[in-house]
Amino acid sequence: MGRLLAVLLGTLAVLAGLTAAPARAETAGTLAAPTFKAPYPCGQRWTYSHHSAEVRRALDFVRADGGTTAGTPVLASAAGTATRHYQAGGAGNYVVVDHGGGWKTYYFHLAAFSVANGAWVGQGQQIGTTGSTGNSSGAHIHYEQLYNGVGQNIRINGSALSYPGSYHQAYLTSDNGCGGGGGSFTTWGSGVRVRADAYLSSPVVTTLAGPTAVTVVCQKQGDTVSAEGYTNNWWSKLRDQGGFISNIYIDHPAAQLPGVPVC
Ligand SMILES: [Zn+2]
Repeated sequence: MGRLLAVLLGTLAVLAGLTAAPARAETAGTLAAPTFKAPYPCGQRWTYSHHSAEVRRALDFVRADGGTTAGTPVLASAAGTATRHYQAGGAGNYVVVDHGGGWKTYYFHLAAFSVANGAWVGQGQQIGTTGSTGNSSGAHIHYEQLYNGVGQNIRINGSALSYPGSYHQAYLTSDNGCGGGGGSFTTWGSGVRVRADAYLSSPVVTTLAGPTAVTVVCQKQGDTVSAEGYTNNWWSKLRDQGGFISNIYIDHPAAQLPGVPVC
């Protein structure tokens, strides 16, 4: 996170002051939303629908690329804390991922769980396998995005999905967990410690003497670091240094770097 952030925040505060209060209240939830990705693996094409008896603003997903829906991994659509639940005659085996800021996602009817109850999961991490437990007539992923407990119209990669009444009218190809090559960035500051993991208690593996060109392979949330007037809990994994640095020392204004997958 670069020094630009304080300047940007100051500018935003001034702009917000010029905006009518109701408009700000209306957009507050949207601004806080994580960038959700499809709840199934990279490259797979699924179709989705919202049937008449559906709860909240859920969408049901089934595969439409020739693959078998049952047993396909279910992926966290954004990072967060996963909890396991069971509801007979309803959701069946299901996972809730709490993304913070009032945002949660639900994944119903799982055949099996793939995470421990209370585990932190990264975006694209498998949390279960697709099944048909509970009140379900066939294998599918029942998926919801909730803000402060209220189902929201589902958005993937920032775009709102439609709500067709039956399958094979709308399709979504996943880019969740695709990985990618990471990104090239420059660090700033001197004597920046590279640690074995994203925690201040992790051993130091090397130190960056001054601004350094680095390749960030992935990023994750760890200890909150406050330095030079900034606070951030995202850390970057550096390819060539073999460890993590706080994103504070990456010269980019975003707390979570764009185009860099979650570890
Ligand atoms: Zn459903």
